[in-house]
Amino acid sequence: MRLLLVEDETALSEALSEILNQNGYLTDCVSNGIDGLEYIRTGIYDLILLDIMLPGQDGLTVLRKMRAEKIHTPVILLTARSELSDIVTGLDAGSDDYLPKPFSTAELLARIRAISRRGPRYTQDVLQFEDLSLDRGSMELSCGGNTIRLGKKEFELMEMFLRNPGQVLPKELLLSRVWGLDSAADYNNVEVYISFLRQKLHALGTAVHIRTSRMAGYRLEGRS
Ligand code: CA
Repeated sequence: MRLLLVEDETALSEALSEILNQNGYLTDCVSNGIDGLEYIRTGIYDLILLDIMLPGQDGLTVLRKMRAEKIHTPVILLTARSELSDIVTGLDAGSDDYLPKPFSTAELLARIRAISRRGPRYTQDVLQFEDLSLDRGSMELSCGGNTIRLGKKEFELMEMFLRNPGQVLPKELLLSRVWGLDSAADYNNVEVYISFLRQKLHALGTAVHIRTSRMAGYRLEGRS
């Protein structure tokens, strides 16, 4: 599981990330709401730990924006203010859980396990870019009247591309996200699956294509 911790208190952030890493959760940390939302938009996280009081933009704003963008990654709000109003506002804004500070690490780990047990929530959302659309429920990739069902790894790759069109996604990132850091897979696996996806894009007749970047990654591009 890959976690994002958005927390501006440096000591707390460092302590939490160490504990999370020790417990097998690969954790990235950012310290303000602007970077937080940018990282969340990459779509690579399984869970977000989101502080409410943050510089840049507060956690509730980040939460509202990501939900408005149909990003369904589970969120646990961390709040220093345990007032009922904050919690209710947070749950209304789309948080899955909350933890009033101070909390014990055992409590945090228990909440993370509880949310991860729910599993990925595949909604019927459709991701779109130019003439291409991906149905996240059926894993079908479509263009015009043509539809092809993707395999699981193809789907996960395509989902990352469609969440980040025009951005270079490094091979390392694709490998860690789709195959996992501990797997025996290497860059060859990424290349093979990219070629599968290219064949399917070609078969669909879409103008959208995956370009190999000089920076050892791939980028989803459209007609222009
Ligand atoms: Ca804070």
